[in-house]
Amino acid sequence: MIKIDKAITPQYLAQFSSEPLDIKEPFHDSKIKRRLKSDLYREQKGLCAYCMSRISVEDNVIEHIKPKSNFKYKDLSRKYSNLVLTCKHMGGTNTHCDESKKENELGYVPLVLFSEVEKYIKYDKDGTIIGQNLQLNNDLNSYKLLNLNGTTYLKRNRREVIRNLEVIINDFILLNKNRVKIRNELCKLLRNEVKADILTPYSGVLRYVINEYLKIIK
Ligand SMILES: [Zn+2]
Repeated sequence: MIKIDKAITPQYLAQFSSEPLDIKEPFHDSKIKRRLKSDLYREQKGLCAYCMSRISVEDNVIEHIKPKSNFKYKDLSRKYSNLVLTCKHMGGTNTHCDESKKENELGYVPLVLFSEVEKYIKYDKDGTIIGQNLQLNNDLNSYKLLNLNGTTYLKRNRREVIRNLEVIINDFILLNKNRVKIRNELCKLLRNEVKADILTPYSGVLRYVINEYLKIIK
């Protein structure tokens, strides 16, 4: 999970903010829905807001972070800040993200909006994602919430990112004994990843691994 820099509510959504809440959501209109998806896709740089797997502009789900079915959050159903794109899956037992969370509420604050999100999440070498507090860890693990470890391929994909990156970095370290040069290269790698218009799938894992190396190589 990485931070999503949310833009202000676009005009095509803002115009509906004074409409009564009992009318259907504006993005049920296909043109608005397409614009919204396109904006969210650009904002999230091509990744699912929760699991960070690759999504396409068309094939995804508009997710309400705070569930729209909960009366408490009714007024958030049209708030751009409460909307993200998540991945779409075929169903079955391997559900995660929106498909497992459904209308349930995450116990932890919506972490994807927090600048410090990366401080709260760790990754084991086997690809396990770990929340740094009990509530967050429950959000990530519960099969009724994000279920990011209960899904074999997500864990395997994260493990592959870790392994591949470690091979690249370790080879570089072997060839370049100069610590300053190694650090500079790692910082460059990190910078390029953060600045990219379309991120590498599981970008948070990649950033985590680079930052762990940066802690060691001083
Ligand atoms: Zn996902």
